[in-house]
Amino acid sequence: MATTTSAPRTDESRGDKPSSRNFIQQIIDADRAAGKNGGRVHTRFPPEPNGYLHIGHAKSICLNFGLAREYGGKFNLRFDDTNPTKEEQEYVDSIIDDVRWLGGDWEDRLFYASDYFQQLYDWAVQLIKEGKAYVCDLTADEVRAHRGTLSEPGKNSPYRNRSVEENLDLFQRMEKGEFPDGTRTLRAKIDMASPNINMRDPVMYRIKHASHHRSGDRWCIYPSYDYTHGQSDSIEGITHSICTLEFENHRPLYDWFCEALRIHHPQQIEFARLNLTYTVMSKRKLLQLVQEKHVAGWDDPRMLTIRGLRRRGYTPEAIRAFCERIGVAKFNSTVEMAWLEDAIREDLNERAPRVMAVLRPLKVVITNYPEGQVEQLDAANHPQRPEMGSRTVPFTRDLYIEADDFMEDAPKKFFRLAPGREVRLRYAYFITCCEVVKDKSGNITELRCTYDPATRGGNAPDGRKVKGTIHWVAAPHAIAAELRLYDHLFKTEYPDDAPPGKTFLDNINSDSLEIVRNAKLEPSLAVATSGQHFQFERLGYFFTDPDDSKPAKPVFNRTATLRDTWAKEAAKE
Ligand code: ATP
Ligand code: MG
Repeated sequence: MATTTSAPRTDESRGDKPSSRNFIQQIIDADRAAGKNGGRVHTRFPPEPNGYLHIGHAKSICLNFGLAREYGGKFNLRFDDTNPTKEEQEYVDSIIDDVRWLGGDWEDRLFYASDYFQQLYDWAVQLIKEGKAYVCDLTADEVRAHRGTLSEPGKNSPYRNRSVEENLDLFQRMEKGEFPDGTRTLRAKIDMASPNINMRDPVMYRIKHASHHRSGDRWCIYPSYDYTHGQSDSIEGITHSICTLEFENHRPLYDWFCEALRIHHPQQIEFARLNLTYTVMSKRKLLQLVQEKHVAGWDDPRMLTIRGLRRRGYTPEAIRAFCERIGVAKFNSTVEMAWLEDAIREDLNERAPRVMAVLRPLKVVITNYPEGQVEQLDAANHPQRPEMGSRTVPFTRDLYIEADDFMEDAPKKFFRLAPGREVRLRYAYFITCCEVVKDKSGNITELRCTYDPATRGGNAPDGRKVKGTIHWVAAPHAIAAELRLYDHLFKTEYPDDAPPGKTFLDNINSDSLEIVRNAKLEPSLAVATSGQHFQFERLGYFFTDPDDSKPAKPVFNRTATLRDTWAKEAAKE
């Protein structure tokens, strides 16, 4: 099982003074000091357009873009689109939109590996002519069988010593479409006995008669990832090619191609991929969740995709702060989901206006308040930020409070409303509960209370104190809304660790979505437009759902719960 990282800042990751620069910054500092690449820094984010981006990709985007910005360098967005059968324009579009939303700026440098297909082909011809590549007629299974294992060397292909002329002829005919899929490959001629399996004559080209999302039917041979990636970096003048640890064993091959071709040679640097508790991060598994309808789509707010996070109400600032805080490491570990949640809380705590909403309404009638009277009470939009101003909330005889804020047989330490007890209604008055009204089955339907007119604004002139302050909404003015409350999509910290015979799907949390259909909101929210953040006092941060929210029927997603004294108070009871 992976180790879980629980201390947010390591010396390695702070990057705020020279001695605490992360290992990638140290490499770049040294390269610049040595005058390598003329001191230039040029990074890229190279997604394969075969799925939507997730929080792990955000980490890579923030890292690559952040380094370019820090050093006054450049950042490219490049689609690594070498596999025609799995890639789609839909993914390209969403990736472009998500990278931009996160703040990644590639200026005019949006590229596609498929734009380099001709150059890659010409370079392959060059390698053939120099005796460094050959056409192999082994099937995929045979290639695998010849490859050997970690402890055994591979066996040379019987086609390894074809003449340059024969190789050129066959490769050109492969390109013309003379051979069926899978019948031949072009392989680099390196070393079948190399201790590194990636160096055992890796495949450079496969035959695939498939239409490509950009090049259409121009090609029926497609270059492999290893033969494409480094050369694309090279063409673009990338200086530091940052990738995740699983490519460490591919680095000798990356270097081999650049050297064999005598082209600009970027430096590949590996860092540990981001893993988070309570989620899966592989695109294949995310796709499975979508296709098998375990979630509503790529943008389901429980998904750790950028789409899902956006819809949930995460901000680019919070995601960037999170990525900054977790730093970069050379060893794989798993970061606690709580860090991500803390990052969004910290951001929204600053910017989200406070409003009042009641999740599970319980009717309260203030018996000594005149029927039909409406008072407009002043309510601050942010207690610590007066510049955010205030609004008025109506106060009336009929109110809603949170059903949870009342207890009939309340223990002593229950500081909210109970028969005979007094509480403060936020921004309003002290009220005392005098009577509990029930239906025939004994369910509480209404509370009858009195208010103290001298406590307007929430303070008693006689100095008397109340222990609890609760939120409320005026019943005649309340707006009905749907609230969607989310929990982790998986019930275990490491959903990938499923017992034998089970899969990550068995770890899905069946209670990860709760829909509250009849919440009551204060009337100022009638003008809430899509894409707005609010703190519903004591309930959490909420975001108007960009797709489903309508003025007549607002829908809010809970972005995060509050990590406030309230939870602690509740725990004490
Ligand atoms: P898969 O999930 O199928 O393994 P991938 O996540 O590697 O695919 P790519 O589109 O190739 O998908 O990723 C683009 C870039 O994002 C790569 O440079 C990759 O290293 C980086 N990346 C992907 N996942 C993570 C992660 N969890 N943490 C950090 N970087 C990541
Ligand atoms: Mg990949």
